[in-house]
Amino acid sequence: MKYLSILGSTGSIGTRALEIVRMHPDHFKVKALTAANNIDALARQIVEFKPELVAVLNETKAMELSRILKGNDRPQILFGEDGYCEAASYRDSDMILLAMVGSVGLKPALCAIASKKQIALANKETLVMAGQIVMAAARENGVSILPVDSEHSAIFQCLKGNPKKDVKTIFLTASGGPFRQLPFDAFKDISLNDALCHPTWSMGHKITIDSATLMNKGLEIIEAVHLFDIPHEQIQVLVHPQSIVHSMVGYKDGSIMAQMGLPDMKGAISYALSEPERLNLQMDFPDFATLGSLTFEKPDIQKFPSLVFAFEACRQKGTLPAVMNAANEVAVCAFLEKRIGFLDIFRLISSTMERHTRIDNPNLSGIIEADCWARDKAQSLI
Ligand code: MG
Repeated sequence: MKYLSILGSTGSIGTRALEIVRMHPDHFKVKALTAANNIDALARQIVEFKPELVAVLNETKAMELSRILKGNDRPQILFGEDGYCEAASYRDSDMILLAMVGSVGLKPALCAIASKKQIALANKETLVMAGQIVMAAARENGVSILPVDSEHSAIFQCLKGNPKKDVKTIFLTASGGPFRQLPFDAFKDISLNDALCHPTWSMGHKITIDSATLMNKGLEIIEAVHLFDIPHEQIQVLVHPQSIVHSMVGYKDGSIMAQMGLPDMKGAISYALSEPERLNLQMDFPDFATLGSLTFEKPDIQKFPSLVFAFEACRQKGTLPAVMNAANEVAVCAFLEKRIGFLDIFRLISSTMERHTRIDNPNLSGIIEADCWARDKAQSLI
Protein backbone atom coordinates (compact mmCIF):
# COMPACT_ATOMS: atom_id res chain seq x y z
CA MET A 1 0.00 0.00 0.00
CA LYS A 2 1.32 3.42 -0.95
CA TYR A 3 0.13 6.51 0.92
CA LEU A 4 -0.25 9.60 -1.26
CA SER A 5 -0.41 13.37 -0.96
CA ILE A 6 -1.88 14.83 -4.15
CA LEU A 7 -1.14 18.52 -4.63
CA GLY A 8 -3.37 20.02 -7.29
CA SER A 9 -6.01 17.30 -6.95
CA THR A 10 -8.78 19.04 -8.91
CA GLY A 11 -6.68 19.73 -12.03
CA SER A 12 -6.45 17.42 -15.03
CA ILE A 13 -3.51 15.40 -13.64
CA GLY A 14 -4.94 15.30 -10.11
CA THR A 15 -8.34 14.02 -11.19
CA ARG A 16 -6.80 11.37 -13.42
CA ALA A 17 -4.52 10.27 -10.56
CA LEU A 18 -7.61 9.88 -8.37
CA GLU A 19 -9.21 7.73 -11.10
CA ILE A 20 -6.19 5.44 -10.78
CA VAL A 21 -6.55 5.38 -6.98
CA ARG A 22 -10.24 4.56 -7.42
CA MET A 23 -9.34 1.65 -9.74
CA HIS A 24 -6.65 0.32 -7.38
CA PRO A 25 -7.75 0.76 -3.77
CA ASP A 26 -5.46 -2.14 -2.84
CA HIS A 27 -2.41 -0.14 -4.05
CA PHE A 28 -3.08 3.42 -2.92
CA LYS A 29 -4.61 5.39 -0.08
CA VAL A 30 -4.95 9.20 -0.19
CA LYS A 31 -3.63 10.96 2.91
CA ALA A 32 -3.60 14.60 1.82
CA LEU A 33 -5.17 16.67 -0.99
CA THR A 34 -4.69 20.26 -2.03
CA ALA A 35 -6.52 22.50 -4.50
CA ALA A 36 -6.36 26.26 -4.95
CA ASN A 37 -9.84 27.40 -5.97
CA ASN A 38 -12.10 24.56 -7.01
CA ILE A 39 -13.63 24.03 -3.59
CA ASP A 40 -16.75 22.14 -4.71
CA ALA A 41 -14.69 19.55 -6.57
CA LEU A 42 -12.30 19.26 -3.65
CA ALA A 43 -15.20 18.72 -1.25
CA ARG A 44 -16.49 15.84 -3.40
CA GLN A 45 -12.98 14.31 -3.45
CA ILE A 46 -12.78 14.61 0.35
CA VAL A 47 -16.07 12.74 0.78
CA GLU A 48 -14.90 9.97 -1.54
CA PHE A 49 -11.21 9.57 -0.63
CA LYS A 50 -11.25 10.67 3.04
CA PRO A 51 -7.86 12.38 3.31
CA GLU A 52 -6.63 13.35 6.77
CA LEU A 53 -5.34 16.74 5.66
CA VAL A 54 -6.31 19.22 2.93
CA ALA A 55 -4.99 22.64 1.94
CA VAL A 56 -6.50 25.39 -0.20
CA LEU A 57 -5.41 28.78 -1.56
CA ASN A 58 -6.35 31.09 1.34
CA GLU A 59 -8.38 31.48 4.52
CA THR A 60 -11.57 32.48 2.66
CA LYS A 61 -11.42 29.27 0.61
CA ALA A 62 -10.68 27.27 3.77
CA MET A 63 -13.81 28.68 5.44
CA GLU A 64 -15.88 28.00 2.33
CA LEU A 65 -14.68 24.38 2.36
CA SER A 66 -15.37 23.88 6.02
CA ARG A 67 -18.93 25.25 5.54
CA ILE A 68 -19.56 22.74 2.73
CA LEU A 69 -18.19 19.78 4.68
CA LYS A 70 -19.95 20.35 8.02
CA GLY A 71 -19.90 16.70 9.28
CA ASN A 72 -17.67 15.03 11.83
CA ASP A 73 -15.17 13.26 9.55
CA ARG A 74 -13.79 16.57 8.38
CA PRO A 75 -10.04 16.51 7.58
CA GLN A 76 -7.68 19.09 8.98
CA ILE A 77 -8.03 22.14 6.70
CA LEU A 78 -4.99 24.36 6.07
CA PHE A 79 -4.33 27.11 3.55
CA GLY A 80 -1.66 29.04 1.67
CA GLU A 81 1.92 28.08 0.96
CA ASP A 82 2.37 26.74 4.50
CA GLY A 83 -0.66 24.50 4.02
CA TYR A 84 0.69 23.19 0.69
CA CYS A 85 4.06 22.52 2.33
CA GLU A 86 2.36 20.61 5.20
CA ALA A 87 0.58 18.43 2.65
CA ALA A 88 3.87 17.89 0.78
CA SER A 89 5.65 16.72 3.91
CA TYR A 90 2.72 14.99 5.64
CA ARG A 91 4.16 12.39 7.99
CA ASP A 92 1.95 9.50 6.85
CA SER A 93 2.49 10.00 3.11
CA ASP A 94 5.10 7.97 1.21
CA MET A 95 4.79 9.80 -2.08
CA ILE A 96 3.79 13.26 -3.21
CA LEU A 97 2.13 13.83 -6.57
CA LEU A 98 3.02 17.42 -7.40
CA ALA A 99 0.41 18.46 -9.94
CA MET A 100 -0.18 22.10 -9.14
CA VAL A 101 0.25 24.64 -11.96
CA GLY A 102 3.18 27.05 -12.24
CA SER A 103 5.84 28.35 -9.91
CA VAL A 104 3.76 27.73 -6.74
CA GLY A 105 5.00 24.13 -6.94
CA LEU A 106 8.59 24.99 -6.06
CA LYS A 107 8.39 25.36 -2.27
CA PRO A 108 6.17 22.31 -1.70
CA ALA A 109 8.64 20.30 -3.82
CA LEU A 110 11.52 21.37 -1.60
CA CYS A 111 9.47 20.58 1.55
CA ALA A 112 8.72 17.09 0.24
CA ILE A 113 12.39 16.50 -0.51
CA ALA A 114 13.49 17.75 2.93
CA SER A 115 11.05 15.25 4.50
CA LYS A 116 12.42 12.48 2.26
CA LYS A 117 9.15 11.86 0.41
CA GLN A 118 9.30 10.36 -3.08
CA ILE A 119 7.97 12.80 -5.68
CA ALA A 120 5.89 12.11 -8.77
CA LEU A 121 6.50 15.38 -10.58
CA ALA A 122 3.95 16.84 -12.97
CA ASN A 123 4.89 20.44 -12.24
CA LYS A 124 7.64 21.17 -14.76
CA GLU A 125 8.03 24.81 -13.65
CA THR A 126 9.72 23.58 -10.46
CA LEU A 127 12.65 22.15 -12.42
CA VAL A 128 12.68 24.99 -14.94
CA MET A 129 13.06 27.58 -12.19
CA ALA A 130 15.38 25.79 -9.83
CA GLY A 131 16.45 22.51 -11.41
CA GLN A 132 19.97 22.54 -10.00
CA ILE A 133 18.82 23.24 -6.45
CA VAL A 134 15.93 20.77 -6.54
CA MET A 135 17.96 17.92 -8.05
CA ALA A 136 20.88 18.49 -5.67
CA ALA A 137 18.53 18.44 -2.67
CA ALA A 138 16.89 15.27 -3.99
CA ARG A 139 20.28 13.54 -4.35
CA GLU A 140 21.34 14.61 -0.83
CA ASN A 141 18.12 13.29 0.69
CA GLY A 142 17.98 10.10 -1.38
CA VAL A 143 14.68 11.16 -2.91
CA SER A 144 13.68 9.95 -6.37
CA ILE A 145 11.86 12.32 -8.66
CA LEU A 146 9.63 10.36 -11.01
CA PRO A 147 8.42 12.13 -14.13
CA VAL A 148 4.68 12.42 -14.80
CA ASP A 149 5.03 14.46 -17.98
CA SER A 150 4.31 11.96 -20.78
CA GLU A 151 7.53 12.77 -22.69
CA HIS A 152 9.73 12.47 -19.61
CA SER A 153 8.00 9.32 -18.50
CA ALA A 154 8.78 7.95 -21.97
CA ILE A 155 12.44 8.97 -21.74
CA PHE A 156 12.65 7.54 -18.21
CA GLN A 157 11.27 4.22 -19.47
CA CYS A 158 13.57 4.19 -22.53
CA LEU A 159 16.63 4.83 -20.33
CA LYS A 160 15.91 1.87 -18.05
CA GLY A 161 18.51 -0.86 -18.18
CA ASN A 162 20.94 1.15 -20.31
CA PRO A 163 24.05 2.98 -19.05
CA LYS A 164 23.62 6.73 -19.42
CA LYS A 165 27.07 7.10 -20.96
CA ASP A 166 25.73 5.27 -24.02
CA VAL A 167 22.97 7.84 -24.68
CA LYS A 168 23.57 9.96 -27.75
CA THR A 169 20.34 11.85 -28.39
CA ILE A 170 17.02 12.37 -26.69
CA PHE A 171 14.20 12.84 -29.17
CA LEU A 172 11.59 14.91 -27.39
CA THR A 173 8.34 14.66 -29.32
CA ALA A 174 5.77 17.45 -29.59
CA SER A 175 2.24 17.31 -30.98
CA GLY A 176 2.91 20.68 -32.61
CA GLY A 177 -0.25 22.18 -31.11
CA PRO A 178 -3.26 23.56 -33.01
CA PHE A 179 -1.25 26.03 -35.16
CA ARG A 180 1.31 23.69 -36.66
CA GLN A 181 -0.08 24.15 -40.17
CA LEU A 182 -1.34 27.71 -39.83
CA PRO A 183 0.67 30.15 -41.98
CA PHE A 184 2.62 32.67 -39.93
CA ASP A 185 0.78 35.70 -41.35
CA ALA A 186 -2.43 34.36 -39.76
CA PHE A 187 -0.85 34.16 -36.28
CA LYS A 188 -1.81 37.74 -35.46
CA ASP A 189 -5.50 36.79 -35.69
CA ILE A 190 -5.34 33.77 -33.37
CA SER A 191 -8.10 34.02 -30.77
CA LEU A 192 -8.21 32.62 -27.25
CA ASN A 193 -10.72 29.96 -28.32
CA ASP A 194 -8.49 28.87 -31.23
CA ALA A 195 -5.58 28.46 -28.80
CA LEU A 196 -7.61 26.51 -26.25
CA CYS A 197 -8.44 23.73 -28.74
CA HIS A 198 -5.62 21.20 -28.48
CA PRO A 199 -5.67 18.56 -31.22
CA THR A 200 -4.61 15.50 -29.16
CA TRP A 201 -4.30 16.13 -25.40
CA SER A 202 -6.98 17.36 -23.04
CA MET A 203 -5.35 19.50 -20.33
CA GLY A 204 -5.72 22.62 -18.17
CA HIS A 205 -5.68 26.14 -19.68
CA LYS A 206 -2.08 27.11 -18.83
CA ILE A 207 -0.53 24.03 -20.42
CA THR A 208 -2.92 24.17 -23.40
CA ILE A 209 -1.74 27.70 -24.24
CA ASP A 210 1.86 26.60 -23.59
CA SER A 211 1.29 23.80 -26.11
CA ALA A 212 -0.08 26.26 -28.69
CA THR A 213 3.03 28.47 -28.38
CA LEU A 214 5.32 25.40 -28.06
CA MET A 215 6.59 26.94 -24.82
CA ASN A 216 5.43 23.71 -23.20
CA LYS A 217 8.14 21.97 -25.24
CA GLY A 218 10.60 24.69 -24.25
CA LEU A 219 9.89 24.06 -20.58
CA GLU A 220 10.19 20.31 -21.22
CA ILE A 221 13.67 20.72 -22.73
CA ILE A 222 14.85 22.36 -19.50
CA GLU A 223 12.97 19.79 -17.41
CA ALA A 224 14.74 16.97 -19.29
CA VAL A 225 18.18 18.55 -18.84
CA HIS A 226 17.71 18.45 -15.06
CA LEU A 227 15.79 15.21 -14.66
CA PHE A 228 18.19 13.14 -16.73
CA ASP A 229 21.34 15.22 -16.19
CA ILE A 230 21.84 15.47 -19.93
CA PRO A 231 23.32 18.43 -21.88
CA HIS A 232 20.77 20.42 -23.88
CA GLU A 233 22.90 19.88 -26.99
CA GLN A 234 21.82 16.23 -26.87
CA ILE A 235 18.11 17.04 -26.96
CA GLN A 236 16.27 17.23 -30.26
CA VAL A 237 12.64 18.31 -30.58
CA LEU A 238 10.56 16.44 -33.15
CA VAL A 239 7.01 17.37 -34.08
CA HIS A 240 4.88 14.23 -34.12
CA PRO A 241 1.23 15.24 -34.56
CA GLN A 242 -0.25 11.80 -33.81
CA SER A 243 1.20 11.83 -30.23
CA ILE A 244 1.63 8.04 -30.26
CA VAL A 245 5.42 8.05 -29.75
CA HIS A 246 5.76 9.87 -26.43
CA SER A 247 9.53 10.35 -26.85
CA MET A 248 12.63 8.34 -27.78
CA VAL A 249 16.19 7.76 -26.65
CA GLY A 250 18.92 7.16 -29.25
CA TYR A 251 22.05 5.25 -28.23
CA LYS A 252 25.56 5.42 -29.63
CA ASP A 253 25.18 2.10 -31.46
CA GLY A 254 22.43 3.66 -33.59
CA SER A 255 19.65 1.90 -31.71
CA ILE A 256 16.58 3.91 -30.69
CA MET A 257 14.14 3.04 -27.92
CA ALA A 258 10.68 4.59 -28.22
CA GLN A 259 7.83 4.50 -25.74
CA MET A 260 4.38 4.47 -27.29
CA GLY A 261 0.75 4.47 -26.32
CA LEU A 262 -2.49 6.35 -26.82
CA PRO A 263 -2.31 10.00 -25.77
CA ASP A 264 -3.83 9.57 -22.30
CA MET A 265 -2.00 10.93 -19.26
CA LYS A 266 -3.19 8.01 -17.14
CA GLY A 267 -0.33 5.81 -18.34
CA ALA A 268 2.41 8.24 -17.34
CA ILE A 269 0.76 9.11 -14.01
CA SER A 270 0.27 5.48 -13.11
CA TYR A 271 3.86 4.57 -14.00
CA ALA A 272 5.21 7.37 -11.79
CA LEU A 273 3.07 6.15 -8.89
CA SER A 274 3.80 2.45 -9.22
CA GLU A 275 7.11 1.88 -11.07
CA PRO A 276 8.76 -0.54 -11.56
CA GLU A 277 5.39 -2.29 -11.40
CA ARG A 278 2.78 -1.61 -14.08
CA LEU A 279 -0.86 -1.40 -13.09
CA ASN A 280 -3.73 -2.73 -15.14
CA LEU A 281 -5.37 0.42 -16.49
CA GLN A 282 -7.67 -1.31 -18.98
CA MET A 283 -6.30 0.95 -21.68
CA ASP A 284 -6.42 0.09 -25.36
CA PHE A 285 -3.34 -0.01 -27.54
CA PRO A 286 -3.15 2.26 -30.57
CA ASP A 287 -4.76 0.39 -33.45
CA PHE A 288 -1.63 0.15 -35.59
CA ALA A 289 -3.38 -1.56 -38.47
CA THR A 290 -5.77 1.36 -39.05
CA LEU A 291 -3.68 4.18 -37.64
CA GLY A 292 -2.03 5.08 -40.96
CA SER A 293 1.26 6.96 -40.87
CA LEU A 294 3.22 8.14 -37.88
CA THR A 295 4.92 11.32 -39.07
CA PHE A 296 7.82 13.36 -37.73
CA GLU A 297 9.04 16.81 -38.74
CA LYS A 298 11.32 19.58 -37.54
CA PRO A 299 9.64 22.30 -35.47
CA ASP A 300 9.34 25.69 -37.21
CA ILE A 301 11.30 28.00 -34.91
CA GLN A 302 10.35 31.07 -36.99
CA LYS A 303 6.73 30.48 -36.08
CA PHE A 304 7.46 29.19 -32.58
CA PRO A 305 10.45 31.06 -31.09
CA SER A 306 9.72 29.55 -27.65
CA LEU A 307 12.17 26.77 -28.48
CA VAL A 308 14.89 29.34 -29.19
CA PHE A 309 14.17 31.03 -25.85
CA ALA A 310 14.40 27.72 -24.02
CA PHE A 311 17.68 26.64 -25.65
CA GLU A 312 19.08 30.10 -24.88
CA ALA A 313 17.97 29.75 -21.24
CA CYS A 314 19.72 26.35 -21.14
CA ARG A 315 22.92 27.84 -22.57
CA GLN A 316 23.03 30.81 -20.21
CA LYS A 317 21.57 29.02 -17.15
CA GLY A 318 21.64 30.94 -13.85
CA THR A 319 18.48 32.95 -13.29
CA LEU A 320 17.49 33.07 -16.98
CA PRO A 321 15.29 29.92 -17.03
CA ALA A 322 13.32 31.26 -14.04
CA VAL A 323 12.91 34.60 -15.81
CA MET A 324 11.70 32.91 -18.98
CA ASN A 325 9.22 30.85 -16.98
CA ALA A 326 7.87 33.83 -15.00
CA ALA A 327 7.50 36.01 -18.11
CA ASN A 328 5.65 33.15 -19.79
CA GLU A 329 3.28 32.74 -16.82
CA VAL A 330 2.46 36.47 -16.89
CA ALA A 331 2.05 36.42 -20.68
CA VAL A 332 -0.23 33.36 -20.70
CA CYS A 333 -2.33 34.83 -17.91
CA ALA A 334 -2.70 38.11 -19.83
CA PHE A 335 -3.61 36.20 -23.00
CA LEU A 336 -6.22 34.16 -21.10
CA GLU A 337 -7.67 37.44 -19.85
CA LYS A 338 -7.66 38.77 -23.45
CA ARG A 339 -5.34 41.63 -22.47
CA ILE A 340 -2.74 40.72 -25.10
CA GLY A 341 -2.71 38.91 -28.44
CA PHE A 342 -1.13 35.56 -29.26
CA LEU A 343 2.05 36.97 -30.81
CA ASP A 344 2.50 39.29 -27.81
CA ILE A 345 3.23 36.19 -25.70
CA PHE A 346 6.50 35.69 -27.62
CA ARG A 347 7.31 39.43 -27.60
CA LEU A 348 6.78 39.67 -23.87
CA ILE A 349 8.97 36.67 -23.06
CA SER A 350 11.83 37.76 -25.29
CA SER A 351 11.74 41.40 -24.11
CA THR A 352 11.77 40.32 -20.47
CA MET A 353 14.65 37.89 -21.05
CA GLU A 354 16.65 40.54 -22.94
CA ARG A 355 16.29 43.03 -20.09
CA HIS A 356 17.38 40.62 -17.37
CA THR A 357 20.79 40.87 -15.72
CA ARG A 358 21.59 37.23 -15.19
CA ILE A 359 23.07 35.83 -11.99
CA ASP A 360 25.24 32.70 -12.08
CA ASN A 361 24.58 29.83 -9.65
CA PRO A 362 21.76 31.59 -7.78
CA ASN A 363 20.51 30.28 -4.45
CA LEU A 364 16.80 29.86 -3.80
CA SER A 365 16.24 33.47 -2.78
CA GLY A 366 18.15 34.64 -5.88
CA ILE A 367 15.81 32.57 -8.03
CA ILE A 368 12.70 33.86 -6.30
CA GLU A 369 13.98 37.41 -6.66
CA ALA A 370 14.57 36.88 -10.40
CA ASP A 371 11.09 35.35 -10.70
CA CYS A 372 9.51 38.42 -9.00
CA TRP A 373 11.61 40.80 -11.10
CA ALA A 374 10.49 39.08 -14.30
CA ARG A 375 6.81 39.18 -13.29
CA ASP A 376 7.01 42.91 -12.57
CA LYS A 377 8.93 43.59 -15.76
CA ALA A 378 6.53 41.56 -17.92
CA GLN A 379 3.53 43.26 -16.32
CA SER A 380 4.99 46.70 -16.95
CA LEU A 381 5.73 45.76 -20.58
CA ILE A 382 2.08 44.78 -21.06
MG1 MG B 1 4.35 16.87 -21.90
